[in-house]
Amino acid sequence: MDVQQDGQAAEAQGDAPETNETNETSAPSAPRATPATDGASGPFPTQSPLDGSALPAVTATSPSEVPALARKAREAQKAWAAKTARERASVIAPVKQRILARAEEIANLVHRECGKPVEEAALAEVLPNADLVEYWTDAIEELLEGTTVEFDPLAYPGKLGRIHKAPRGLVGLITPWNYPVAIPLRTIVPALLAGNAVLFKPSEITPRAGALVASLFEGLLPDGLLALVQGGGDVGAAVVDEADIVVFTGSVATGRRVAVRCAERLIPCSLELGGKDAAIVLADAPIERTANGIVWGAFTNAGQNCASIERVYVDRKIADKLVPRLVELTKKLEPGRDTAVLTTSRQCDIVRRHLAEAEAAGAEVLAGGAPEAGSLAFAPTVVKLDREDTPLLREETFGPILPIVLVDGAEDAITRVNASSFGLTTSVWTRRVGAAHELARRLKTGVVTINNHGFTAAVAAAPWTGTGESGYGITNSPHALGELTRPQFVLEDRNKAARELWWYPYTPVLRKIAFAMARARGGAGLFGRIAAVFELALALPKRLLGG
Ligand code: NAD
Repeated sequence: MDVQQDGQAAEAQGDAPETNETNETSAPSAPRATPATDGASGPFPTQSPLDGSALPAVTATSPSEVPALARKAREAQKAWAAKTARERASVIAPVKQRILARAEEIANLVHRECGKPVEEAALAEVLPNADLVEYWTDAIEELLEGTTVEFDPLAYPGKLGRIHKAPRGLVGLITPWNYPVAIPLRTIVPALLAGNAVLFKPSEITPRAGALVASLFEGLLPDGLLALVQGGGDVGAAVVDEADIVVFTGSVATGRRVAVRCAERLIPCSLELGGKDAAIVLADAPIERTANGIVWGAFTNAGQNCASIERVYVDRKIADKLVPRLVELTKKLEPGRDTAVLTTSRQCDIVRRHLAEAEAAGAEVLAGGAPEAGSLAFAPTVVKLDREDTPLLREETFGPILPIVLVDGAEDAITRVNASSFGLTTSVWTRRVGAAHELARRLKTGVVTINNHGFTAAVAAAPWTGTGESGYGITNSPHALGELTRPQFVLEDRNKAARELWWYPYTPVLRKIAFAMARARGGAGLFGRIAAVFELALALPKRLLGG
């Protein structure tokens, strides 16, 4: 395996999002902004967003190194694809145990590099990944089985058809920083099991977690099959230029750029992009479960989650009970302990701006508020507002703000949810589960959860997908395997005749047969069809004799 963490010295700077600025005014131990590139190690943050402590150095891959790594991966892929699915599964199965055995190391690294609580790191980035490896290694043989195409023996005598699921070849995988272990593994595991090679570029914000992911496969795979490249947008662009398919998770703006380049190269791409997820609370919702669920859905990973609840539409009839409970629960959460610190100062600036603009538009802050300058410990914040024409309700905030809008029942809520340009997930909170299923069918989001929110990204068997600006990619489930493989149709002909009906020569008899077939198959009334059958009975033997 090519793990490019150490060794190559070239720096990658590209059009990646700006890294963070140092803030001189912050207290040394407070969560604070990390410095921009130090010039020696590429575009990577060098300090933990938690406390500013130094993070280990990472060396960037030069974009010029990517083609050679891609060639090596392609070479390794040939023998890998020739193995059976069961053989590949037995090679990868030990990754489950490796994840579990390294649980504390993984959780602690994500905690330091990303700033999320250790509990969240363990629950979101360790345990579901072990399940994911088990799901795919158990299921892959059956999921890759080919299917048969049946042929009409009269029209197509002696034909046997089979559809195989062939690997795409080289999967270019480009991932974000918010779930830096779970998101890459969701593609690496099924991509490899399907017989592909993978060229993996983690986010430049979390390169150490990316290296850890690659290390889980060390010593198991053929040399070069999983190649790790480290760097920013220019290295990502080099990956796009080499891959046979790109699996991208990240922002809408970058996703669009990746899609354009993939279109130019005529290769497929899978896009998992941003979200503006809503929770709909109907008048009969159970208060305690709904309030607890929404508070978690809004504030886990400090809202730096594509499926974070960024809008909650509450039926007016229940507002008096639900809103105070949401506020009460939120006030109990301590930023940096119960909720993550924001991972970058760039993200913190966006969240501050959305809150400030919403306040300017009349939003009432019921809990929390922006932190002091330089701190990344953004308190979980609840706001109540009437107007939707503010970035807080239109754009992805990706931070710990829970905006509450009161609505007049389910119809009003559906209209508002579906008005968004995003369509990742929506949750519906109610005791009337049957009605919620009806409502789910009318929501345009890729995932709908009834009386829960967001967690199904961690369920390997359930498709994770969106609509609109949330992208059309699919991770998890057999549907994801549909992206990581291509159907290959193989026809075997056992017909021993010298020629097929439709081969040369084209003769008047053949023309007669063609039109008689059209009439016999429904192009004429009953008598016309009967006449056509007689015509065919006379013409087909003539054709067989060369007419
Ligand atoms: P980003 O778009 O800034 O970066 C994502 C990745 O793209 C990084 O690895 C980056 O280096 C790379 N990149 C940048 N420019 C590139 C280029 N020109 N060509 C190829 N690669 C390039 O996103 P981010 O800030 O890392 O992640 C946050 C975003 O990800 C949010 O919008 C969030 O909603 C989204 N996200 C979506 C899902 C989902 O499942 N839908 C999951 C997690 C995160």
